[in-house]
Parts: sequence; structure tokens; C-alpha cells
Amino acid sequence: MKRIVIDPGHGGRDPGAVTNGLQEKDLTLDIARRTRDILNAYQAEVRLTRDDDIDLDLSPRADMANSLNADYFCSIHVNAGGGTGFESYVYTLAGDKSQALRGIVHDQLSEFYRSVGFPDRGKKKANFAVLRQTNMPAVLLENLFIDRKEDAAKLAEPSFRQGIAEAIAAGLARALELQPAAESAGVALNTTCTVEKVTVLVRGKNIQGFITNDRTYAPVRDIAEALGYRVTWYEKDKIVYIQ
Ligand SMILES: [Zn+2]
Repeated sequence: MKRIVIDPGHGGRDPGAVTNGLQEKDLTLDIARRTRDILNAYQAEVRLTRDDDIDLDLSPRADMANSLNADYFCSIHVNAGGGTGFESYVYTLAGDKSQALRGIVHDQLSEFYRSVGFPDRGKKKANFAVLRQTNMPAVLLENLFIDRKEDAAKLAEPSFRQGIAEAIAAGLARALELQPAAESAGVALNTTCTVEKVTVLVRGKNIQGFITNDRTYAPVRDIAEALGYRVTWYEKDKIVYIQ
């Protein structure tokens, strides 16, 4: 089973960047928790370097991933200093594997950000401590700019942070070739049950479904799209994302 360490940047007395009524440490923790929860749908052991608003130096974050012998380290940050959009970092001397995995995670997030109107600032390298000190492939994600009004307004929305987390989780799942968790791998349909037709009305849209075992089944895409959500299907992982 793949082991992933997710690192919410900053924490405790170190709030990270603070502006527009937001603190970076809160945003990173929230996105990290959401990412972990989404990854519950996969066969993966996901650990956060911090699951609370606590002080945590950079070295202990890398030490934790090293001692867990993690397969991947993903640090989550929010940018500041004038700019907009998304960028990712690997260590200056990152190996081929680390760069390849970053490419997959980056492209997934970039697709999400571009779909909501934010630019891709590129795949970058830096001598960041958590990237240098981790023994496994590692990435650091800079999610929008807290000090730009338009970026901050989106970061303040829980549904937007969920979108970021879904994109990170999808990227990690693809990069690390995670398999769906056993309980979500297939729905155990009772083969001797009766099936009854039913009409499901969603916001006035007529969707054909069926009832079996006192439960109603109807096409998830039809329902989600009738409610205004976007549906993405990952054939390889057999996962439907509703955003
Ligand atoms: Zn930061």
C-alpha cells in the first residue's frame, strides 16, 4: 500500500502569509484535511504532518516522512508577494522520478485552476528545506496568492478549497497509481432481488432509474449535471468526481 505524507504549511505561531482576512496556515490545513479525506477512497495510507494548529519546524516534517518511509511527500502552501495563479516546486536537484510525479500532480491541478480562470505559473525548482530533507519524491504546491483580492476571495470559499483538494487527490492517485479502496471497488448487488422502474425528478428533469432492495439507483451524471455540478470520470481508477 502506498504511503503519502501531506504537509500543511506553517501552523501555530507561524501563520504563513496573512492578509485579506485569511491566514495561510488555516487554508493549508483545511486543504490537507480535505485531500486526506478524499484519498480515503483509495488504497493508501495518508498521514498529515500536522492535523492541528500547532508549531512545527521544517525538519520534523521531513523527518516524519523519512521515518514512515513514505512513497511521496506533498507540501501544501498558499503564495504571496504579488501575482496570481498556481505553481509547483521540486527540489533543485530532484531526480527523474520526482520530476515525473510532480508533472502528473501539477498538470491535474493546473487543469483545475485553468478551468476556474487562474493561470499556470509553471513547474519550478527550489532549495526548500522540506524538499531537500525528504528522502522520497516530493512536491510543494503554491495555491493562488493570498494577497491578491480575487485569489483570496476564492480561497475563502470552502467549496473552492474542496475543488483544490479533489484536484490534488486526483493528481496523487494518478501519479502513484493508487487503487480504489476495497469497499468502493464494487457495489454488491443482490442477484436475486427484484428491480422496479422509478422516475427521479431532479430540478424538473426527468431521470429514469430503478429501485432494488429498497434503494433507488439512477445515473449519477444525469443527477449531478441537473444540479449544476461537473462530472469527471477516471476510467483507470474507476472513480467518478463530482465538483
Ligand atoms: Zn507558505
